[in-house]
Amino acid sequence: MAKSQEQQHPKKAFGWAARDSSGVLSPFNFSRRETREKDVAFKVLYCGICHSDLHMVKNEWGITTYPLVPGHEIVGVVTEVGSRVQKYKVGDKVGVGCLVGSCQSCDKCADNLENYCPRLILTYGAKYHDGTTTYGGYSDIMVADEHFVIRIPDNLPLEGAAPLLCAGITTYSPLRYYGLDKPGMHVGVVGLGGLGHVAVKFAKAMGVRVTVISTSPSKKEEAIKRLKADSFLVSREQDQMLAAWGTMDGIIDTVSAVHPILPLIRLLKTNGKLVVLGAPEKPHELPVFPLLMGRKMVGGSNIGGVKETQEMIDFAAKHNITAEVEVIPIDYVNTAMERLAKADVRYRFVIDVGNTLKPAF
Ligand SMILES: [Zn+2]
Ligand SMILES: [Zn+2]
Repeated sequence: MAKSQEQQHPKKAFGWAARDSSGVLSPFNFSRRETREKDVAFKVLYCGICHSDLHMVKNEWGITTYPLVPGHEIVGVVTEVGSRVQKYKVGDKVGVGCLVGSCQSCDKCADNLENYCPRLILTYGAKYHDGTTTYGGYSDIMVADEHFVIRIPDNLPLEGAAPLLCAGITTYSPLRYYGLDKPGMHVGVVGLGGLGHVAVKFAKAMGVRVTVISTSPSKKEEAIKRLKADSFLVSREQDQMLAAWGTMDGIIDTVSAVHPILPLIRLLKTNGKLVVLGAPEKPHELPVFPLLMGRKMVGGSNIGGVKETQEMIDFAAKHNITAEVEVIPIDYVNTAMERLAKADVRYRFVIDVGNTLKPAF
């Protein structure tokens, strides 16, 4: 008979898990593997609530296995390192993002693109190399191979740094890869949520001129005053959109609801690039003619590799970039999920795991 989650591994662990597709989270005893020679163990202090956590607890993508401990924006302090760990020592501030493993032998892994490895292992709800389930950061401790651990620079507040491990790298990586990082360029950011607000901050720090494109005029003041965007377009206002035709080198589209992309393609200059980061339930309609006429392209991107995630965090530290967060206690997590479903958060919930998660052994 299979061992229970509590007996599978030697290290006792405690977190909050969803048990079924109601998505309701509740206290959960489980276990973590011993700290192997290349492993880093750390006490979790904060964990961000990503929109994908919401999809996963409710099994909206049809891939969830229960019990599910979500969380892939995890930061904390190292408590133990394996004998062959080189990069970290006890007391270091570290984090783990969306990945805890990959094959480490394919060409993607060799290129530091573990995020595109066909055998990548997600931080929660996946199977690790040893066949056991991975559990995320809504929990007291993490154990991870040092290769997948990110160093958090000392000047970054941990609660504001946590969301960078998913939302940050998801927007930083396409800005770099698609070459939308050159000073003086003009980049649009569609949607001002968890992803969009950090996209604005990264692009501004790269010296790019940023226009936020949103359906809600109410976000204009915040986009410009607080996040320092240069301008704001209400996507439903035809005259505003017309006035901006052909002015953008690229667009980072963070919206995962179905929405028309033709108006966005029209905003691009010749050779402009529309990068989509959200995955709507139904396919986008792709208008080809406007792509041909301006040699424009539509591309995608998904998180980033470990090396680039470290580069992103170091860049954030240098430019004092953090996510705007609402810190919550763990027992607020179900309410937070309901609010997140209604986009009622500015801009990321982060669970104060270190101070509020109390073991119930
Ligand atoms: Zn995420
Ligand atoms: Zn690989």
